[in-house]
Amino acid sequence: MEQKTLKEDGKTFVGFRSEVPRGGSWTVYPGLCKGCGFCIEVCPVAVISWSDRLGVYGTPSVEVDAEGCILCHQCERICPDAAIGVESRHGVVANREQQETAKDTGRNQS
Ligand code: SF4
Ligand code: SF4
Repeated sequence: MEQKTLKEDGKTFVGFRSEVPRGGSWTVYPGLCKGCGFCIEVCPVAVISWSDRLGVYGTPSVEVDAEGCILCHQCERICPDAAIGVESRHGVVANREQQETAKDTGRNQS
């Protein structure tokens, strides 16, 4: 995992970036995360979970199991505080069929 920084409103936030094998990256900025859990709820393949790193209000922030991420960007879009950044190389965005397949695979494994 690699660390990166984001400057916003004169403040600097540290981000934790994971390479996603499907061709991209997933980054969380705990200093922006308020622990609402929306990203955990929305992830179609259930690869986001609570983290030991604390967020802005002292509640857990989140982390990803990057192996399973399908780069659908839904967590990034739903986050009210822009605490997650998802980058897809090659402009790859998983379509609905890929999401359903990944979801089914996840169900079969659990
Ligand atoms: S980009 Fe999609 S699959 Fe990856 S962690 Fe976010 S919601 Fe889950
Ligand atoms: S949606 Fe954003 S603020 Fe809410 S838990 Fe996820 S990263 Fe944190």
